[in-house]
Amino acid sequence: MLRQVAEGVLVHQSEFCQTNTVVVQGRAGVLLIDPGVLGSELAAIAADLAELGQPVVAGFSTHPHWDHLLWDARLGAAPRYGTARGAAAAAAWLSDPSWKDRLPQLIPPDIVEQVPLDLLGLVTGLPAGTAQVPWDGPNVRIIEHQAHAPGHAALLIGERGVLVAGDMLSDVLIPMLNVNGTADPTGDYLAALRLLEGVAGDVEVMVPGHGSVGGADQVRARLDQDRAYVHALRDARDPGDSRLGPAATYDWVASVHAWQVQRLA
Ligand SMILES: [Zn+2]
Repeated sequence: MLRQVAEGVLVHQSEFCQTNTVVVQGRAGVLLIDPGVLGSELAAIAADLAELGQPVVAGFSTHPHWDHLLWDARLGAAPRYGTARGAAAAAAWLSDPSWKDRLPQLIPPDIVEQVPLDLLGLVTGLPAGTAQVPWDGPNVRIIEHQAHAPGHAALLIGERGVLVAGDMLSDVLIPMLNVNGTADPTGDYLAALRLLEGVAGDVEVMVPGHGSVGGADQVRARLDQDRAYVHALRDARDPGDSRLGPAATYDWVASVHAWQVQRLA
């Protein structure tokens, strides 16, 4: 089910990990950001858009992780964009002939059969430094940074006051750092948070990749919460983060935290 969060901006939330898909209405159709996750959900989004008479005219993947690279033939054959780095990372992953063998380590076994993989990751990289998504609709600014994944991008739909945060600023997941082949993962993450903070004044609605949609006050609160977590990780302190504690939404987040502590030690 699509829910309006701002004028011309709709959100679908997946059962899996509260993954948010964003629909932005343009002049001749919609921009679809991070469609997901289960096949039945992608079909429902396609049906809802058909009912609204809104074809998908462009897609965008915020980063090269499986849950943000999905597509379904019923959504049509519009170009699907990502940053140059993000698309290159997705292509590198899929060019390894054993990528499907490693899916069980990535996708939970209870849903793996329900995730459509045929069109996974077929994303066109925009030239490095591209400032906005090329499409016929409201300006969608690309805020690329190196934090959670290579070429991770947040999107700012300025005239709607909406920030699509990708896998940052979640109320249910801790910052998950990209520790593969990066020299300073905590420094990169803090730099990315500063970039997002730089646009916070323009944001009335923030949509994280996973978790609940928040208002302007939530943008500040989550920036502070994410920064506090990364500082604690960097300084080898207990983060005291509610997303990890006994009241955490997902109990597995604690093991991600333990893994990050180990990797950064
Ligand atoms: Zn994700």
